[in-house]
Amino acid sequence: MEITVVGSGTVVPRLQRRQSCVVVRAGGETLIFDLGAGAVRGMLRAGLDPFAADRIFFTHFHPDHTVDVVPLLFGMNYGADEVRSRPLHVAGPEPFARFWGSVMDVWGEWMAGDYPTLVSELPHECPAPVDLAGCRLSWAPAEHRPESIAYRLDADGGAFVYTGDTEYSESVVGLARGAHTLLIECSFPDDTPVPGHLTPSGVARMATESGAGRVVLTHLYPAVDNDLLVSEVGKGYDGEVVVAEDGLRFAV
Ligand SMILES: [Zn+2]
Ligand SMILES: [Zn+2]
Repeated sequence: MEITVVGSGTVVPRLQRRQSCVVVRAGGETLIFDLGAGAVRGMLRAGLDPFAADRIFFTHFHPDHTVDVVPLLFGMNYGADEVRSRPLHVAGPEPFARFWGSVMDVWGEWMAGDYPTLVSELPHECPAPVDLAGCRLSWAPAEHRPESIAYRLDADGGAFVYTGDTEYSESVVGLARGAHTLLIECSFPDDTPVPGHLTPSGVARMATESGAGRVVLTHLYPAVDNDLLVSEVGKGYDGEVVVAEDGLRFAV
């Protein structure tokens, strides 16, 4: 699997960090996890074709994880060189059907294409892993919004886990058990924590308990985004710590 962190930022507008978006290439398919503001242009900046999307997954419905689905699908209909015919899969946690229906009520006239759009509402607990091209998908509840879930992809080279937004979560620790790489939110410093989000010590605790081999920190608010961050996480975690930047690409 080839993974690109397209957006590593938050609700705070910053030139250096777009809002949340992760693109995974596996088995010839392009999977997108979250589509915050700036994600579509961020894909271009990272050398990725936004229209190559085969499957879109959302961790939760906050705007900094969802809004760029509007320009992406609008662009697929009116801004692409070729008319799309292959299906697009769009998935998110319960009550995703209601969320998607609301988006379509407002923008559907321009977003819905002639190609099949397959909408999946995921129950919070994953009933069974789903086989995709080149990887196996599973998920688990996260502690952020009532609908929040985190995702895991297993492939031959190991497992990749993306937490989305969360605070300390036993179910996400379980999901990340033995993962090769854990892409984990790290929003605020330890001296100014905010409910629903992680601080460096919380990241270290989750990474250590899960036994993940490496953490990549994302969803960085300005207050935590400094040179001390890696050492802060390293106080409680022995594995490799990487701070994401927009366009960071790695393999699992
Ligand atoms: Zn967020
Ligand atoms: Zn959020």
